[in-house]
Amino acid sequence: MSTSLLYHGFGVVGYQYIRTDYKEGQIIFTLSRKKFSLRCPVCKSKRIIKHGSLPRWLHSLPIGRISTFIKTEIPRVECKECGIIRQADIGFADARYTYTRALGRYVLDLARHMTISDVAKHLGLSWDLVKSIQKRHLLKKYGKPNLRQLKRIAIDEIYVGKRGYLTIVLDVLSGAVVFVGNGKGSDALEPFWKKLRRYRKLQIEAAAIDMSPAYIKAIRENLKDTVIVFDHFHVIKMFNEKLSDFRRQLFNITEELLPKSVLKGTRWLLLTARERLNSEQDKQQRLEQALELNRPLATAYYMKEDLRQLWNWEGDKSAAQWHLTSWIEMAKNSGIGMLKKFAKTLERHFDGILAYFDFDSLSTGPLEGTNNKIKTMQRKAYGFRDMEFFKLKIMALHETKYALVG
Ligand SMILES: [Zn+2]
Repeated sequence: MSTSLLYHGFGVVGYQYIRTDYKEGQIIFTLSRKKFSLRCPVCKSKRIIKHGSLPRWLHSLPIGRISTFIKTEIPRVECKECGIIRQADIGFADARYTYTRALGRYVLDLARHMTISDVAKHLGLSWDLVKSIQKRHLLKKYGKPNLRQLKRIAIDEIYVGKRGYLTIVLDVLSGAVVFVGNGKGSDALEPFWKKLRRYRKLQIEAAAIDMSPAYIKAIRENLKDTVIVFDHFHVIKMFNEKLSDFRRQLFNITEELLPKSVLKGTRWLLLTARERLNSEQDKQQRLEQALELNRPLATAYYMKEDLRQLWNWEGDKSAAQWHLTSWIEMAKNSGIGMLKKFAKTLERHFDGILAYFDFDSLSTGPLEGTNNKIKTMQRKAYGFRDMEFFKLKIMALHETKYALVG
């Protein structure tokens, strides 16, 4: 084999080809280091003395379906500048690993389209090795996200099956997940605050969260100058939950008084936007019937639609403020307990709800997309017994070229 084939085909420079062996369906290239290419691995000085060498086998790029190995001697060199004896750099491989850099790059390329198992099988490597190649790469790229530039974040927890909950912090401007915490609530965020404390000056101007007291407290304690924006999806979700409870209560009360068919199935109708209902005449009719029998429920339903409109005042915060104020007034005067209570909740979170209009419609919405990707990734993956690996994969999601599979 020629020196230039070694270079162009296998990424090897500074070595001389000695011979090729074929053993058990594998190809072994024996190479020897060209003497002039030896340097001190630390100061790169050429003033060195060779002190013996150690044999090394390195897994190299396959030829078709056949695995190849590079066998060579790694010299030990004494540097005249440093005065220390060390193992020389291999050049085409990291001294700590058992594979060549070219093979590492190839594994990462294949991982864009294939599962870890597929790559391992295809290259005749162990599953663990393929995984650790990917993990090393992810660790280098995403292990220490730069939090100094962080301006707008969104925090939310996601449910990931057997693992329970993970708490995710998203850099809203870049779309990158910058932190994944175990569990939910304030404990899950503790390591994140710890990381932030390493930076002397932070620029986080706004954080989107739901209205849970744990998040509010955590942000107030750890990010004093950051404006809290209450996520509008969560506000509506909360209203929907209250509405469902309210309906259930009414259903229980009116069960004896009303024909069941009127109320049955209205739960879904209540949670559906009115415009979607309009296209479906009979559902609309059933809804009208149910609403007539249930004035309070009708009011609550109307109020939900009206609340939803609040976030349509994009670019007009004062109109939104008027809208929210009048909503709260109406709810308080409705005579309906559920609405009165919700009005108080909104009143307590008034500024944070309206802060949405100060930060370009900041919400935890983008996290929903990340959430879905995590679920897809998880459904197809077997490699996530390693929690650190799983977290790194999540942090790589925004620019992931890798298959969402394990
Ligand atoms: Zn040196």
